[in-house]
Amino acid sequence: MNQNTLNGRIAFVTGGSRGIGAAIVRRLASEGAEVIFTYASSEAAADALVAEVTTKGGRARALKVDSADAAALTAAIDAAAAGAGRLDILVNSAGVLERGSVETLGIDAFDRTFAVNVRAVYAGVQAAQRHMGEGASIINVGSIVADRTAFPGGAVYSASKGAVQAMTRGFARDLGARGITVNNVQPGPTETDMNPSDYHDMLKSLMALGRLGKPDEIGALVAWLAGPDARFISGASLTIDGGYLA
Ligand code: NDP
Repeated sequence: MNQNTLNGRIAFVTGGSRGIGAAIVRRLASEGAEVIFTYASSEAAADALVAEVTTKGGRARALKVDSADAAALTAAIDAAAAGAGRLDILVNSAGVLERGSVETLGIDAFDRTFAVNVRAVYAGVQAAQRHMGEGASIINVGSIVADRTAFPGGAVYSASKGAVQAMTRGFARDLGARGITVNNVQPGPTETDMNPSDYHDMLKSLMALGRLGKPDEIGALVAWLAGPDARFISGASLTIDGGYLA
């Protein structure tokens, strides 16, 4: 265990089986939160993460929930909150990346991307806020592509993360009066399955720090935002990109 800044907090994390989401689950749990997380298909990875957290003395539970199914996501959040009595932290980390130029990428890819990266964030926040009170935190995982699309083939994904940035501001306004903060963490290139190694050398050349981010580094920022020292931050998009945008 790390510190105990999140002791007794109930957290729901979408897309927690791999990559950045898994690092967020680990970090929240290590700081004392009870974590319920979703995955789409990686059951073995999800089970292994639950076992890892449990072995270290933390609490985590995995649910197979397709974020593209808003009703299923809503039901899962309602059930988690009913079981725990409330919800303190929601992290929307599930995301998909479909690359392709507007010359070729079909409308079905647009719909799939927006279903998971945008619609599910709206559905998740709508469901979670019903179970939240003063001091609760909502953290979306957007991307620096909301601010800069550096390569061809990124229009749809960038648009989805731009929507997350804009919704974050709107949610912060909607929920601020109830003492609920809403923020958007925008990672730069980070070492996960979404970011295959054949791109790494090219990406490194664009980063001030000359390396990609590690999922744990994103997890640390998310946990801090969920903690007591970040209560005056809301509606913000925080860049964590090793100087990619510098
Ligand atoms: P990965 O592809 O490594 O992992 C994606 C995670 O999301 C998995 O746990 C996956 O579950 C889950 N997921 C995907 N689709 C669904 C769905 N329909 N329903 C439920 N869960 C789903 O991605 P990253 O860890 O890299 O990305 C996490 C977030 O960070 C995303 O929102 C991404 O856009 C964002 N991001 C990533 C960056 C990067 O460089 N890697 C940079 C900036 C932002 P399963 O294992 O079952 O497939």
